[in-house]
Amino acid sequence: MIVILLGPPGAGKGTQAERLAKTFGLVQLSTGDMLREEVRGGTDLGKEAKKIMDAGGLVSDAIIIGMISSRIDSLKGKGIILDGFPRTTAQAEALDKMLDDKGLKLDHVIQLKVDEDALVERLGGRFACAKCGAGYHDTFSPTKQDGVCDRCGSTEFSRRSDDNPQTVRSRLVAYREQTAPILPYYEKKGALKAIDGMGEMDEVFRRIRGIVES
Ligand code: AMP
Repeated sequence: MIVILLGPPGAGKGTQAERLAKTFGLVQLSTGDMLREEVRGGTDLGKEAKKIMDAGGLVSDAIIIGMISSRIDSLKGKGIILDGFPRTTAQAEALDKMLDDKGLKLDHVIQLKVDEDALVERLGGRFACAKCGAGYHDTFSPTKQDGVCDRCGSTEFSRRSDDNPQTVRSRLVAYREQTAPILPYYEKKGALKAIDGMGEMDEVFRRIRGIVES
């Protein structure tokens, strides 16, 4: 099964993709996570990508498409949930061609619809455990004990450098101008299923699950 989760930054794609991956035994492929790994590794690609990510722009289609294609090959037919990809019409077209060439089929394209005014607040409060990666939010999902990770007990946390208000605004512009145009692309193919992405995480997950199980 291959599923795409679409939506603006802060819509909850990463959180929901992680749950979907666990529930349905899929592999979560997040291009943002792959790029952050390159940044941490200090590779040439990571250095180049960091400048673009910190400015809230999009990394070149050629790089992203190459990265995803080789990752899909390495999974040898396992189910996949795509999170943060495709982000441009060129990426969506390349994905279609790549799946065709590999003899794979896209099953669901799920759009998380969210109130854009809520996104700046959602992104501004995000943090994660530096050790196990568990995600939290200052207001919406703080740790149970102040400063201690619920999952692994670590006391070290990190915030994404691109979650500051200025970069968030640029990321939202990139979404509106370059990513939102792929919605009609999937709509025309009859593949797009939109759901309300606001409200409780569990409730949003139930809506996504309903589509994946249909
Ligand atoms: P994300 O973790 O999905 O919010 O991605 C973080 C940043 O990585 C984005 O703001 C972009 O700069 C870059 N990025 C992630 N995925 C893509 C993609 N599919 N195409 C271009 N840039 C991407």
